[in-house]
Amino acid sequence: MKAHRTLLVRLPKDKCDVDYIKRLMALTNLAYRGFEVWVPDIPKTVQHQLYGFKNYMRSLVLGTVPKRWFVRAWIPSKILRVYQDGSRKGDKSAPVVLDLKNNVIKIRWVCKNEISIPMPDWVVNWIDERVREGGDVRFAMIGLKDDEPYLALIAERKVEPYEPSEYRLVVDVNSWKYGISWGLVRDGRIMSYKQERLNLGRYYGLYNELIRLGRKYGELKRSGLHKTTEGRRLWKRIRAMHARLYAITRDKAYFLASKLVRKALRYKALLVIDDMTEESRRELLEEKLPPGVIKLLMANTRKFVKQLTTLAKWYGVPYEFKRLPSTICPICQHELTQLPDRIMVCENCGFKAPRDKIPIHWALREHNYEFKQFQKVIYSPTSTTH
Ligand SMILES: [Zn+2]
Repeated sequence: MKAHRTLLVRLPKDKCDVDYIKRLMALTNLAYRGFEVWVPDIPKTVQHQLYGFKNYMRSLVLGTVPKRWFVRAWIPSKILRVYQDGSRKGDKSAPVVLDLKNNVIKIRWVCKNEISIPMPDWVVNWIDERVREGGDVRFAMIGLKDDEPYLALIAERKVEPYEPSEYRLVVDVNSWKYGISWGLVRDGRIMSYKQERLNLGRYYGLYNELIRLGRKYGELKRSGLHKTTEGRRLWKRIRAMHARLYAITRDKAYFLASKLVRKALRYKALLVIDDMTEESRRELLEEKLPPGVIKLLMANTRKFVKQLTTLAKWYGVPYEFKRLPSTICPICQHELTQLPDRIMVCENCGFKAPRDKIPIHWALREHNYEFKQFQKVIYSPTSTTH
């Protein structure tokens, strides 16, 4: 099985011809749809590279087929790697060259003129780690994100998922209001459990400040003063704060995904993901929270699931998605009643647990059930095994 990981590197806008990249992106879109259009004023080499990808475009990390005509698709490229000892790997005519000897990234043809940018340390470290793990940075993609040029480096590794032990790591993906909860389960017991939360006070504080500045900007705009120095400065501050706000959940999502995959690896556990993001959204809607706050509380939860599965694939951690109920009794399947502080109680059998822990109890029950089925097959007297 091939696993991929991607790293985004921003390219200097002044060195790239953005309109030229746009044209190449349009050409890539056509290529995805099976058309070969040879454009006379674009170098043949880059067009050859592009059409060379036709057969395996869909398998690349970012290579989803564009949904609409003329939507901009990122330009796939092979990579020529020059290693520290001077050895080379990859296609000599590849538009992207990773020079690990001099720590430079060279891009030919795609940004029109050849550009050469120093490789920052975090990029060098990322490449080193992927290579140490037995992977290689074989492909790249170049495209525009919010009109800024980016290079995506794609590492590839061949890996088979391991045979899981008796451990299971159950991850319950909720909104940030209640956090992402996980439980390590073995032999019908919860070995450890945690609800990973954000510092909500600080998070809401930043958000309220952002709203306040937004209102101020709105006032300036209404009186036509938003293009003044003050207005521009305020807009810049708003943009920066917005980025800071979303970075909080993004960093948390990446940190948690890495932590949980490492935990699964340590116990050779099967990773069970209960993606409750849609239910969480509905729950927040029922609480009648404003749309802005709901968006804030759901921010980067999708990214968390994406990163979790990307890392699981990369490290060979077997995983599955499973729906685990949180409002039904895991013992007798009676409907649970919610008490204050999100405590759930079963009026039929007396079972009681925090709401966010119920799915973990369900995972236990399912585990036991499967274990019993397994035993039945092995030890049943009618079994034909000798
Ligand atoms: Zn019950």
